[in-house]
Amino acid sequence: MTTATTGAPVPSIPYLTQEPWRNWGGNQFATPAFTVRPRTEQDVIDAVRFAISERIPVRAAGTGHSSSPVVQTGGLLIDMVGIAGVTGHDSDRRRARALAGTTIHALGDPLWERGLALSNEGDIDKQQLGGALATGTHGSGIGLGSYSSCLTWVKLVNGLGEVVEIGEGQLRELRAARVALGTLGVFLEVEMQVEDAYYLEEEITYPTWSETLATWDEDVRDNRHYSFLWCPEDGSSEMFDLPGLPGGGMADRSYTKRYRTAAVTDESTLRFEEGSRLDRAYRVYPGGFTTPFAEFEYFVDAKDGMAASEDIRQLILTDHQDQKWPVEVRWVRGDDGYISQFAGRDTTVITLTADAGSDYWPFFRDADALLQKYSPRAHWGKINFMTRERMERLFPEFDTFVQVRREFDPNGVFLNDYTRALVG
Ligand SMILES: Cc1cc2nc3c(=O)[nH]c(=O)nc-3n(C[C@H](O)[C@H](O)[C@H](O)COP(=O)(O)OP(=O)(O)OC[C@H]3O[C@@H](n4cnc5c(N)ncnc54)[C@H](O)[C@@H]3O)c2cc1C
Repeated sequence: MTTATTGAPVPSIPYLTQEPWRNWGGNQFATPAFTVRPRTEQDVIDAVRFAISERIPVRAAGTGHSSSPVVQTGGLLIDMVGIAGVTGHDSDRRRARALAGTTIHALGDPLWERGLALSNEGDIDKQQLGGALATGTHGSGIGLGSYSSCLTWVKLVNGLGEVVEIGEGQLRELRAARVALGTLGVFLEVEMQVEDAYYLEEEITYPTWSETLATWDEDVRDNRHYSFLWCPEDGSSEMFDLPGLPGGGMADRSYTKRYRTAAVTDESTLRFEEGSRLDRAYRVYPGGFTTPFAEFEYFVDAKDGMAASEDIRQLILTDHQDQKWPVEVRWVRGDDGYISQFAGRDTTVITLTADAGSDYWPFFRDADALLQKYSPRAHWGKINFMTRERMERLFPEFDTFVQVRREFDPNGVFLNDYTRALVG
């Protein structure tokens, strides 16, 4: 133990003072008093215990892909980048364990070598497991849950500096851990329900809006993964680096993705052309975005998905014609996380995107107001207008979440201003 210039004892790992932090999208900033990049789980535990002894708040940072204020702290920021790697698997039970700083991308090859794969993936695979789990990150597929719904065990360091394990025998606590915004403690290692390795075949089409509506139910039902990006104008799909309809004309059409599992016995038959790929699942799901943007994402009951999507389309065509980014529509199976966006209902996900740094507030506020009739929940990692009052109304077991949070962190070590207002 050494002594910082402030007189406070600091952990025996390298630390930085007042290193600026910012997120991927460039709309969230912080200047923590201390930033540490632990190399071992013990480093993380030491750092948390140091902060507790000095009464300094703590937040963990993943890869900074959240655009809501979920990471910020003026206290101790623990950058989990070094706490990475697959730590075990059980092929019979289809379980995989990994350190919480492991990125989703880094799971692909090691799981495949063990004959396993994640059940689903989102639009990118850059996030760390700890970050993805904290916010209920998801892909698309009405039969597939979010990453959080696949969490079966976690080892974390809580607000008393204790290392605690939560497994399926502690369902009350596990349901809180599945989406917890980092407020139960710092996740060290997690276990995920996975499945046997599988291949996916891709189909991309460009239906008009009325064609999209006409096949809505069967598309959702009959594909493992179905999602679309509705384009307000011809150049919209290119804003996500996606090729549009050959010859142009994407206005009021959807860039539609369907993925079905496929049997492959010989990998020389794999195809890699955008639009008709046949590949290992983990290489098909994620795209990559080069241009930072701002995102707003709301979740409605799947039975309201079509009406809510039509409302958003009309909002853009009438009141917000300057908004050119596609609107993404996806589906996720309901789950049991107390503050999961998918708690107790199969869900349609509607994502709005705007230029980073632009004044997107009027657009996002109008969308928030318009969707209120569907009792929408919000993505915790994206720009939203969630309040505690709304949470009490939207999450039937909100009080249980708050009770568990207080048991794990009675002194609020892991709260920042944003999470204190919501779940303190
Ligand atoms: C380009 C882009 C594409 C995206 N695509 C999707 C998508 O397809 N689907 C989707 O659902 N979301 C998507 N997101 C949102 C993203 O998945 C979430 O914001 C996710 O939380 C980011 O993970 P991260 O590792 O960057 O975590 P961060 O943003 O760094 O942190 C998120 C939260 O996790 C907490 N945290 C991080 N590590 C730990 C830990 N070890 N223990 C406890 N708490 C921890 C942090 O304190 C914070 O509260 C996308 C975002 C971007 C920018």
